Amino acid sequence: MLVSVDDYREGILSGLTALDPITLPLPDSHGCVLAEDVVAEWPLPSFDNSSMDGYAVLATDVAGATEESPVTLTVIDDVPAGARADVPVTSGNAVRIMTGAPTPAGTECIVPVELTDGGTSTVEIRGAVEAGTYIRHAGEDVIVGDTVVRAGTLLSARHLAVIAAVGKGHLLVYPRPRVAVLSTGSELVEPGTPLSKGMISDSNSFLLVAAANEAGAQAYRVPPVRDDAEAFSAAITDQLHRADLILTSGGVSMGAYDTVKEVFTEYGTVEFTKVAMHPGMPQGHGFVGESEDERIPVITLPGNPVSSYISFQNFVRPAINKMRGLPDGDRPRIPAQITKAMDSPQNKRQFARGRFLADGRVEPVGGGQGSHVIGGLAQSDCLIVIPEGVGHVNAGDTVDVVDLRGDVR
Ligand code: AMP
Ligand code: MG
Repeated sequence: MLVSVDDYREGILSGLTALDPITLPLPDSHGCVLAEDVVAEWPLPSFDNSSMDGYAVLATDVAGATEESPVTLTVIDDVPAGARADVPVTSGNAVRIMTGAPTPAGTECIVPVELTDGGTSTVEIRGAVEAGTYIRHAGEDVIVGDTVVRAGTLLSARHLAVIAAVGKGHLLVYPRPRVAVLSTGSELVEPGTPLSKGMISDSNSFLLVAAANEAGAQAYRVPPVRDDAEAFSAAITDQLHRADLILTSGGVSMGAYDTVKEVFTEYGTVEFTKVAMHPGMPQGHGFVGESEDERIPVITLPGNPVSSYISFQNFVRPAINKMRGLPDGDRPRIPAQITKAMDSPQNKRQFARGRFLADGRVEPVGGGQGSHVIGGLAQSDCLIVIPEGVGHVNAGDTVDVVDLRGDVR
């Protein structure tokens, strides 16, 4: 019996929760999800200040100033940014002031330096400025007690700015899940090693580490493990105190030497399932660990690289999202016109590799839709989703597409 993609995903997600929040220094929290509201303990701006380099004056003193009949005032103080403004502005006088510097008591407006001769003992004002102009008032942006960023926000550059501005140097955030990626197969060698007959370069572990990092995890690669129960068990045990999530690739089909299946049938709670999708039908997930509170989630992905990738997008990405405190739903899909007819297995959801054309249509990529077609995967920038129950689409039909173009940032 085949389990639907949605039910299988739900089965994985229902066993997962967000990781326990930790306190991180502000820069390290970039890209993490905030686990507390950030509340302003002081207003922004925190004091009245000038938005221009110029002169703090009384509006009435400069009301009649023009290019032809300038007004001359005495400069009684000079306030750069970061200085105190201790001398009040009074009639007939001006205080030279820089952008961001506090306005002296009595300031009614700032005359920009461009409207003056720039003088330092006296200043010639060559234009009128209305009361209130070029003064940034305390609290006009944020008041004390405002929540400047809410718990649950994925922290971007824009958020870090206001958090820094209200003076918080450390934040409570959900950590990035540590994801161990472990590929299995006696045929696997490290890229760069000459291939002897029957051997291939391990590509899945690189694909999965990169995909997990693109999804916001902190993923790392464990060297490939041969198809040997003892070696695989040892590699898993080694990860138990390091990883928040273990991903394996390979060894889950119906063949002999399918070591992942063999070991996890005896150890842990991993259940193996056939999911109604193409590619990526053989799947498994569950937990391993010494005790109930040490258990680590495991997702076992099929060995064919394209299957591994599609499975990652459907099951692992939402799992990582949930563990890092984000909504865990399916990836958004957009409608697009397909340029060529395609067949699809009636009883499965097909995830075909496609490429956007400049006019917004999608074309299936070359090389066929086999689950080993890794060259085709590299040519693709979207997944064409053909639902269960649909055996064929025609050129010109509108299909659902998962846009992968923003995945690397
Ligand atoms: P398996 O799921 O172990 O039966 O593997 C299915 C297919 O995927 C076989 O052709 C494997 O050689 C290939 N394969 C398995 N693991 C990897 C890997 N890490 N990198 C590239 N191909 C792999
Ligand atoms: Mg294998």
